[in-house]
Formats: sequence, C-alpha cells, structure tokens
Amino acid sequence: MTDAAIRIRDLEVHYPLGQRFLGRAEVLKAVAGITLDIPRGSFFGLVGESGSGKTTLGRATLAAAPISKGSVAVTDAQGEIFDLAHLDRDAARRFRRRAQLIFQDPYAALSPRMTVRDIIAEPLEVMKLCKTRDEVNHRVREIATMCRLNVEHLRRFPHAFSGGQRQRISIARALVTNPDYIVADESVAALDVSIQADILNLLKQLQHDLGLTFLFISHDLSVVAHSCDHVAVMYLGRIVEVAPPRRLFAAPRHPYTRALISAIPSLDPDDRGRAERLEGEIPSPANPPSGCAFHTRCPMARDRCRAVLSRVGAERSADGRPRGGAQPPPARLCGGEGIARMARFR
Ligand code: ADP
Ligand code: MG
Repeated sequence: MTDAAIRIRDLEVHYPLGQRFLGRAEVLKAVAGITLDIPRGSFFGLVGESGSGKTTLGRATLAAAPISKGSVAVTDAQGEIFDLAHLDRDAARRFRRRAQLIFQDPYAALSPRMTVRDIIAEPLEVMKLCKTRDEVNHRVREIATMCRLNVEHLRRFPHAFSGGQRQRISIARALVTNPDYIVADESVAALDVSIQADILNLLKQLQHDLGLTFLFISHDLSVVAHSCDHVAVMYLGRIVEVAPPRRLFAAPRHPYTRALISAIPSLDPDDRGRAERLEGEIPSPANPPSGCAFHTRCPMARDRCRAVLSRVGAERSADGRPRGGAQPPPARLCGGEGIARMARFR
C-alpha cells in the first residue's frame, strides 16, 4: 500500500439547486465521483478550467465542503486517521490544526485592521496552542522568517505590503500551527508572473523543509507542470487523468489533457498555428452532458460518445485509481477507442 496522506474514494459533493423534479430535489454535482490518492510528502497539482470543481474538491479534503457520497480519509504525520465524513467535535478540532488552506487572493484574505503579527498569530490564539504571549511571539517570528518575511515588519498593517509579500503573510498564517497538509487554491493566480515564480519556489522550499503534503490547485497547467510531482486533471467534477508532469506532457491520455497542453502559449513561432483549440465553454455541472462529459468539446468525439457506454471508459480513466503510487491504470479513452487513435490524432 502506498503511504497516502489523503485517500479519496468515490467522492461526490452535491449542492442543492432549489428545484424539484418528480418530487426529488435537484442537485449540482460539483464533485461527481472521484477516487484519488495523494501521497505523503507530495506536491500534488490539480488543474482544470474554472468551474471544473477544483476548489470544491480541495475544500472537501479540508472538511470544508459537504461529503454527499463516498469518503475522504486524511492520515496525519503522527498516523492519526481523520475520516472527514464522520468527524466528531474533538477530532474536528485536532484536524483543523493539521490541515490548512492558503487563499487565492492576497488582498482580500488579510484583515486590514490587524497587524501582520496578529494576523499570523490568530490561529495559535484561537486554537489555544501557546501558553504565553512570548511563546506566540517566538513562533510567529520563527514562521515569518521561514516565509522570508522581515520580522521588523510584523508591526505593520497589510496595506503596506505588495501582493507577493501579502501572499507570504497568508502562507505564514497557514503554517503557524505546524500543519502537515496544505491546500493552496490558486495561490499564485493573482500575482505578477515574476512574483508567481518567487512564491512557488517558497512553497516548494517549505514543503521540502517541513515535509508537508501539498494540494496545489491551479487553472494554469503551465504553472502546475513546473512545480508538481503529480498532476491530476479535472473536468466537470471528475479526474480525467493523473500522471507525473513529464509523462503527462509526453503522452497525454485524455483528449481534455491534450487540449489543455495545446492551449499553453508556445514561444516557438512554428508551433503557434498548430494549437488544437478547446472550443466552447465548460458545460454547467447543473446540467452535465450525457455519455462522456467531455464529448461536447472533444475533437475526437463520435456518436457513441453521447451514449452511456462511452462514459464507462472515460470514467475508468477518470478515477485515478493508484497503482504503485498515484498512477491511474492505463487509461482507455472514451469507451475503448484507445491509444492508437490518439497517436493518429497527434
Ligand atoms: P473551480 O474551483 O474549478 O473553478 P468550483 O469548485 O469553485 O470550481 O465550482 C464547481 C461548480 O460548483 C461550479 O459550477 C460552481 O458554481 C458550483 N459551486 C461551488 N460552490 C458552490 C456552492 N457553495 N453552492 C452551489 N454551487 C457551488
Ligand atoms: Mg476555484
């Protein structure tokens, strides 16, 4: 068995739509059946267009989204297993300390009326993790230094800082309780490109030094590719493919992955005309397409992809079932059309 820090099985997250059909309440499946292992100590990327359900999946692994079906089990570094669908109050309190979220927007996430020291210290104080103020101050300085913040600036207010510095404050706040699992949801999306690399390097460094397990969420495959050791590609509530980035780029198995790769702008002028455009928008999960959920935009779609049968293959490749790590079994595309057609498509 792999040492999975996060074990997700057949997970569904439903949100009520407030409509009834034949007496049954209609729901939107933001996560529509996901099985996935996130190995301990990995920097695990989750990528997909806006609306594909990434935030919801990330929140479900933090016990911050409803688990409508299936299970999420998080094992912390001490070996305690948290079954997130059935957390009692004591376990929920312990879990909050072990697992943290880094927000997307460094401008909205920080209270403008609190000093940087108080912002970083707040989780310690709310969770009563330190006995004295000196102890809090010591821990705040320690984590601020690790996050490359100037400790002379701890008495300032967040408005005095740039986007990158604010993101460092958010990171320090998330790490101050010494968690071992971090969800970073679009944590670099709001930043300038040069600062993005800086923050990514910091996250990688912290992950390595502190032995953290990271779920790094981004709509941008090029960001994920350069930093993560595994990448899960998500479409309309499902994982369509999981692979190390090198293999994902060399031999993408799902047409959606191919489309995301080809949408990355190329610097090679000969390459520009060849991009396979991803047409149209992601469908609403409130009214998902029949058959293979990707068939409405797939350049390889055939009639049968609209039928229920096609969906079997897509879901088999979608479930990301681990084999010797976080690898899914070899994917059979779209009801078994297979890699041969993929090669022709290339
Ligand atoms: P992503 O992070 O990939 O952009 P989200 O997880 O935010 O995707 O959203 C997935 C789908 O779930 C979207 O259609 C979104 O509108 C819907 N959704 C997310 N959160 C809620 C909620 N609290 N209530 C109802 N629908 C939601
Ligand atoms: Mg999101």
